[in-house]
Amino acid sequence: MNLYISCDMEGTAGVCSWKQCDPSDTHEYPVFRRYMTREVAAAIAGARDGGAGSIVVNDSHWSMHNLLLEELPDDDGLRVISGAPKPWSMMQGLEATVDVAFFTGYHAKGGDCATLSHTYSEAMYSVSVNGTPCSEALLNAALAGSYGVPVVLVTGDRTIVEETTRAMPWAVGVAVKNAIGFSAVNSLTPAAACEAIRSGAREAMRRVEQARPFVFEPPLELTIETAGVEHADFIELMPGFQRIGGRSVRFTASDYPLLLQAFIAATRIAAAANPIA
Ligand SMILES: [Zn+2]
Repeated sequence: MNLYISCDMEGTAGVCSWKQCDPSDTHEYPVFRRYMTREVAAAIAGARDGGAGSIVVNDSHWSMHNLLLEELPDDDGLRVISGAPKPWSMMQGLEATVDVAFFTGYHAKGGDCATLSHTYSEAMYSVSVNGTPCSEALLNAALAGSYGVPVVLVTGDRTIVEETTRAMPWAVGVAVKNAIGFSAVNSLTPAAACEAIRSGAREAMRRVEQARPFVFEPPLELTIETAGVEHADFIELMPGFQRIGGRSVRFTASDYPLLLQAFIAATRIAAAANPIA
């Protein structure tokens, strides 16, 4: 049973501010990247307890080289994907040889009253596919689903865990913290979170037989409400995007990988938008 892990950071136990997740921060980030790494190591340990074969870990946060590699197990069945940009971003390395996927350190979608809530970029206020509001977990799960790969574990804050397990009731959810607001949390300690993640991962491997791929059925329509008018101005520059409002754009696709590629490109080009001072 080959496993793919997409690991983000904002949903790590204890994380309550951007500084803790910002690689340019020299005070808090070095501590919190260690917590992120330990949660990924706990997921790997639980997967191994549950009989996982090869494991690919895709570092999926910010510039995507956060994991402290020497803290991961000495395991020749384990590969780690680091750095950015990557064509498939948070889902780089998900290939047909993967049987099952885990999402760790995930956070709530843009607009939710939850810790550091956003969807790929703070320029995206809300993102929907076929009318369903999407978190990063749903967007990414649907790519896995297009390869027939189910997601069986999601760890992060309670908001994303509850939303994801509602959409994918076969998945194990491990909520390591509750949001008090955007930048305040009530959290497990890092050690307690790792223990919960390890046992959640072990249980997730037992659920693989009942799990199903999460898919959106074509025809597919992506709609994005951006944070500012200027972000929609930039996304509209890309062929295939239609402007449907001051802060909204639409893209249609016949297959899901194309839709996600367009979305990933939109997040990158929106970052070029800066209000003229
Ligand atoms: Zn992140």
